[in-house]
Amino acid sequence: MDKMEKRVPKLIIVSAPSGCGKGTIMEKAFDRDEVFYSVSCTTREPRPGEIDGKSYHFITTEEFEKMIAEDSFLEYAKYNQTYYGTPKKPVEENLAAGKDVILEIETQGAFQVKKIRPDANTLFILPPSVAELDRRLHKRATEKEETIKRRVSQAAGEIAKADKYDYVIMNDDLDAAIDDFKAVIDGIRGVKEPAVRFSPKIEKIKNMIREVLENA
Ligand code: 5GP
Repeated sequence: MDKMEKRVPKLIIVSAPSGCGKGTIMEKAFDRDEVFYSVSCTTREPRPGEIDGKSYHFITTEEFEKMIAEDSFLEYAKYNQTYYGTPKKPVEENLAAGKDVILEIETQGAFQVKKIRPDANTLFILPPSVAELDRRLHKRATEKEETIKRRVSQAAGEIAKADKYDYVIMNDDLDAAIDDFKAVIDGIRGVKEPAVRFSPKIEKIKNMIREVLENA
C-alpha cells in the first residue's frame, strides 16, 4: 500500500459564536470542492440571503424530532431555543469516500462528536473581544435586541470553552484570520506542516479567554 492509500480522511469541527465572522472566513479560506462542508438542519427561520439546502436545511420542529427518533443525527443541540443538528449520512458517506469533512457547529455538538470520534480535530474562532462581538451583532441587526443580548451572553459561555479545543484562532483582522484558519486546516489535512495550537496571537487569545472566565 502506498502513502496515498493509507491516508485517513479528517473530520474537522469549527466552532465560533455567531458574529465572529466564521462564515466569511470559511467562505474565503479555500475552494469548497476540496472538502465536504456538512449542511446542518435547523428549526430556526432563514435569515435574509440564506438558501435552503445550502446554508441550512430549514425544517420544522416536528421533522427535526422525527430525525432524532430515527437516529439520523451525528450530533444535535438546542441553542437559543432552536434545534441544530448534523445529518449523519452525508458525513459518513463522504468520510467513507475518502473526503475530509468540516462541521460548523456550536460547542455542545462539538463535544458530542469529539466523544464518539476522538480523532476529530476541533478549531475555535474567537472574536477580538466580547464588546466587539456585541457591536458586530448589532451592526448585522437582523434580530431583536433581546435575541442579540442572549447571543452575546451565550457567546461568552462558549468562549469560556475555547481552551478545550485543539486549535484556537482570533478574528481581529479578517485577512490574518483567514491565513491562520488556512494554516490550521492545511495542517490538519496534511497539506502543510501541523499548525501551532494557538495562532500567533497566543497572548491576546489567552488574555481574552481569561477575561471571559473571570467575568463568568
Ligand atoms: P446561526 O443561527 O447563527 O446560524 O447558528 C447558531 C449556532 O449554531 C452557531 O454557533 C452554529 O455554529 C451552530 N450550528 C449550526 N449548525 C449546527 C449543527 O448542526 N449542530 C450544532 N450543534 N450546532 C450548529
